[in-house]
Amino acid sequence: MKITDVGVEILEVPLEHGYQAGGRKVVANWHVLARVRTADGIEGIGYVVKQRGDLVRAIAQAASELGEHLIGCSVLEPEAAWRKLAKLSDWIGPGGLQHWALAPLDIALWDAAGKAQSQPLWRLLGGYRDSLPAYASDRLWYSLGLAELEESAAAHAKAGHTAIKLRLGAAPDREMQAGRVRAAQQGAGPGVDVMVDGTQSWDYPTAALLGPALEEAGITWLEDPLYHDDIEGLASLAARLDIPVTGGENLYTLTQFRRTFEARALDIAILDLFRVGGITPWRKIAALADFFRLPICGHVVPEVHVHLLAAVPNGHKVEYMPRSTEILANMPAPVDGVLRPAEGAGHGLQLDERSVKRCRVE
Ligand SMILES: [Mg+2]
Repeated sequence: MKITDVGVEILEVPLEHGYQAGGRKVVANWHVLARVRTADGIEGIGYVVKQRGDLVRAIAQAASELGEHLIGCSVLEPEAAWRKLAKLSDWIGPGGLQHWALAPLDIALWDAAGKAQSQPLWRLLGGYRDSLPAYASDRLWYSLGLAELEESAAAHAKAGHTAIKLRLGAAPDREMQAGRVRAAQQGAGPGVDVMVDGTQSWDYPTAALLGPALEEAGITWLEDPLYHDDIEGLASLAARLDIPVTGGENLYTLTQFRRTFEARALDIAILDLFRVGGITPWRKIAALADFFRLPICGHVVPEVHVHLLAAVPNGHKVEYMPRSTEILANMPAPVDGVLRPAEGAGHGLQLDERSVKRCRVE
């Protein structure tokens, strides 16, 4: 079970339909893909993905250098491997680029660990259940017009989704923002929850104005209404609103999550598998959230998050926003709003090697 080879590749996966996010045009999903191989023929795969290409080479270079230190480690000992690599890279962390470089290696290692034991990750990591409710958040951008938004919401409902999440822009206009929620509700029809992501774009006075108006409009959660560091502001909003205030996708470390949880700043915690540095630290944050009796969700990467959330008792919902469909042969899709992990040991995901080759950046 010893690792004999680690490979790191950069993939640029072009999008069929570009969109605006954070003031930038998004035209591709960039991946840093890691593969760990053992002498007995096991290959584990892991990747991070981001809708931007800047600094991706730096992440890949860091992952590649760190990956060399996995040679000789056992795929059955991911905890020891993570600690070893984190120590080697502690001068560029904790968090930030260090975590983005550790994550693909750690995910690949856990995939290999599952394959070595012929167990799917959701069971290997706890086996609390084998599926999870999902919600759709793709193609619900703030850059869409009302008619496009309604159309997109209708398409998600038609595909069987029972919850959708739209992003709202920075404008502190109650009527306009509630109007966007109503357009999504109109498109989705009755029986579909409409959630809102403020994407950290409001200040406290704006969030205090919009929060109650959106609650009144019938949304079922309010995500990232404020910058993630504004713990007091988030705690105040969480206390004022009946609907859950959710967030956490911008946090990197266990300490950041602990401070946020202690302040009661979130009702539901969202974990970003890449920012937290992979599956090994993800599990610690999940356990901490459970201690605070907080449900948890995953930020994007539904194909891996479904395993992790299904493994723990406080797993709540999967964000169905696949960004790696083109490079996988078997991206799982929700049925009637419920997502099951891909079949097979580890995370069960298989690369579409032809597509990987096509997207590879030399
Ligand atoms: Mg979000």
